Amino acid sequence: MNTFSISYPTIESVQKALLQKEISCSSLVDDYLKRIAQTRHLNAYIEVFAEEAKSQADIIDQKIAAQKPLGKLFGVVLSIKDNISFAHHTMTAGSKILQSYQALFSATAVQRLLEEDAIIIGRTNCDEFGMGSSNENSFYGPVKNGLDESLIPGGSSGGAAVSVQTGTCLAALGTDTGGSVRQPAAFCGLFGYKPAYGRVSRHGLVAYGSSFDQLGVIAHHPQTIAHLMQIMAGADEYDATCLSEAPPDYLAQAPKKPLKIAYFGQILANEALHPTILATFKDEIQRLAQKGYQVDSVDFDLIEYLIPTYYILTTAEASTNLSRYDGIRYGYRAKDVHSLEETYKKTRTEGFGLEVKRRILLGTYVLSAGYYDAYFAKAQQSRRLILNRMQAILKDYDMVMMPVTANFARKIGTNSTPVEEYLSDVFTVLANLTGLPAISFPVANSIDENVISFQFLTLRERENLLFSWFVPSH
Ligand code: GLN
Repeated sequence: MNTFSISYPTIESVQKALLQKEISCSSLVDDYLKRIAQTRHLNAYIEVFAEEAKSQADIIDQKIAAQKPLGKLFGVVLSIKDNISFAHHTMTAGSKILQSYQALFSATAVQRLLEEDAIIIGRTNCDEFGMGSSNENSFYGPVKNGLDESLIPGGSSGGAAVSVQTGTCLAALGTDTGGSVRQPAAFCGLFGYKPAYGRVSRHGLVAYGSSFDQLGVIAHHPQTIAHLMQIMAGADEYDATCLSEAPPDYLAQAPKKPLKIAYFGQILANEALHPTILATFKDEIQRLAQKGYQVDSVDFDLIEYLIPTYYILTTAEASTNLSRYDGIRYGYRAKDVHSLEETYKKTRTEGFGLEVKRRILLGTYVLSAGYYDAYFAKAQQSRRLILNRMQAILKDYDMVMMPVTANFARKIGTNSTPVEEYLSDVFTVLANLTGLPAISFPVANSIDENVISFQFLTLRERENLLFSWFVPSH
């Protein structure tokens, strides 16, 4: 099936078609379900909520027929990553250890979307606990990229990206701790958004690195993401780290003015950057300059610290966050055990995959008394340094532009070493280390027909610039 023969509607066009009775919500959901069936081999979904989605669609059709009030998201069909709670539905975070765990409540963001009549069609495959960049670390097996089935879709929200890419839903909710929304969106030719830290409640998300985690959205159109942000963003009494200030109007036009865009000269000099991506990045700089924007190379000499800082801090947070999976409170419990300690050991040995174990070990090590100052405390200091530097740059510039990845999507099963895999996150972790909002966007096809994507980062005070930028007048 050629996934790109499908047209990808906007929220406005779906709602218009529904109100003018050109389509019914039931037929819309049936179409999505058909496409899910046709693309099942890509392994994007772990579970499809077919019957429930159909009955929700019936309710919308009845409301339209009776001219009853409709929520702002009627006709909007979404997929959710398997680490986001949806009340009374299984949620496993792609892990055996959470097998058969039922969410007791819906994540605040999900609840807000449901209250506006959004429909959730299924839960998508992902790297176990969000740990990975290829979606090969899932207990449910790898996800295939719809552009080329031999390629990874990126990760950890690989299923989310493919669910949108193949037209099985209008948009997907994912989570981005170090790039897991933006990188798979990039490898699948889509827009991926990581909001400012604290903009969307983390209540109901499976915690990986709590000071990094953010819920994000993948879609074909930036305005679709803006619509969903408009509903999901904002303070939540269940998440104390949620920003208390009112979120921006994501659908508003940012004031028109000549924008100043920065990029890091050091990145262009980096040998690891694929020559085609480098050439496209240079073209993009030129294109923006020709449009009248000020585009400058600025100094950012902290690039080599990004990956060590990110992986020290996130593994530390993960090792504590994952201590709750002990075989007593959640999901999987090992059989034939004779003591409490044996229950813990055997459950965690059998329940966690290799990458998750590696990170728990790393995190426990950097937090241990003898090494805390050398690693964890140092990483906290460099995180502050990185934030200060970015804030200084964004005082002078409206946005920073960067590549999303240094390379194209690789083939499934051609796993590099863990360290090489970690290094591939170098451009995405910056937004999470600093809590800055970032949007990734596709710009071009290279000769190999792989998509090339770049990203914009900005200050959270200017978050809506990341959306209004893409309105055609720019
Ligand atoms: N690839 C990164 C990691 O494995 C990012 C994952 C994420 O954003 N959830 O930590």
